[in-house]
Amino acid sequence: MTDDERGVDQVEPTELWQAVLRTAVDPIIVIDQDGVVLTANEATERLFGYTTDDLIGRNVSALMPEPYRSAHDGYLDRYLTTGEARIIGIGREVEARRADGTVFPIALAVSEIAWNGRSWFTGIIHDLSERQMVEAQLVAAKEGLEERVRQRTAELEASMTELARSNRDLEQFAYIASHDLQAPLRNVRQGLELIDEHLQETFGHGFDPETTELRDLTVAAVERMEQMIDGLLSYSRLDRSQRPAEGTVDLRELADQVVRQMSLDFTEVDARVELSELPTVPGDELQIRQLLQNLLENAYKYHDHDQPLEISLQATETDDGMWLISIGDNGIGIDPDQRERVFELFRRAHPGYDGVGLGLAICKRIVERHGGDIWVETGQNGGSVFSFTIPRSDDG
Ligand code: ADP
Repeated sequence: MTDDERGVDQVEPTELWQAVLRTAVDPIIVIDQDGVVLTANEATERLFGYTTDDLIGRNVSALMPEPYRSAHDGYLDRYLTTGEARIIGIGREVEARRADGTVFPIALAVSEIAWNGRSWFTGIIHDLSERQMVEAQLVAAKEGLEERVRQRTAELEASMTELARSNRDLEQFAYIASHDLQAPLRNVRQGLELIDEHLQETFGHGFDPETTELRDLTVAAVERMEQMIDGLLSYSRLDRSQRPAEGTVDLRELADQVVRQMSLDFTEVDARVELSELPTVPGDELQIRQLLQNLLENAYKYHDHDQPLEISLQATETDDGMWLISIGDNGIGIDPDQRERVFELFRRAHPGYDGVGLGLAICKRIVERHGGDIWVETGQNGGSVFSFTIPRSDDG
């Protein structure tokens, strides 16, 4: 491109510079060393609401609010005598004042023109009002957000306290109800025996075969209810607020004992129990015994009649300081959609079998009270693998 095409030879450099200054987007003001305005551009008029004619000859401090206004002359003097610069050649964020008195933030960059022993100063001003507004909105949004987080946290804490309270009430209720239900149930059972005796004494015979059957059904129902109540009582005794008794438990020895206790059952189904090396863990011996017992009794109860029962007990270390204990069987297994629910109170996946559905709820509570977790998966042979974690040390 030639100079001709650019058009630069049609314009005087001075005129070009004047046009640049006049049309610059940011206000530009030139003052002398007394602070008197020599000239200003159109952007200055727009931003400050003065005409250039108004400004020329006035002290530039008219465009500043206090305390900048009073300090300005002193500042210029100090600079001219000591050379100490606070804005000149540096630039700073300060406040400015419009003709209508409103104050707003600006970025001010001042440069010096030294000529023939005198100085002039050029100030280029950038309006920061919009940036300040956006910053204020951001701060307000942040504060609003923090307030909401505070509120939500408070609500959450309140509902957790409420939940803990209603849990305690429920525990208390379960305990009292199951405890108090024991006596009337005993009365029902004794009542049936007394009726039988009474019939013997009065008529010389007890229940006839038909009523005997009804009595037996009633006794079976009473026994089932007794089992449920016993289970509920053990469950509520494992109150979460009390820590398990402190001690260490040799899992291998405990598992050996439980297996020995169940040897008759196991022999009956031709069971093979494989115990690998098991660790000693911190915990409450009675509770851990109950845990192993419930899991091994279930493996026996839910075995597959078509094949000899195989049970294996294994332990592995996890990366987060726990032992992972797994008890696998080759029994009838559990439907995937029932796997989580079988740990709930009274939840049963195979209703045709004896039981009241509390064993696994008790296991879960024991494991959680020891700081671990329990779950069940399907084994490779279609049976169940119950796994639980337990910390390797007290502080684990
Ligand atoms: P219960 O045995 O008295 O029914 P549990 O709480 O011990 O109660 O077990 C809940 C349910 O989980 C059982 O009813 C059964 O359906 C299922 N279950 C537990 N252990 C096994 C297992 N080893 N194999 C298959 N199903 C099991």
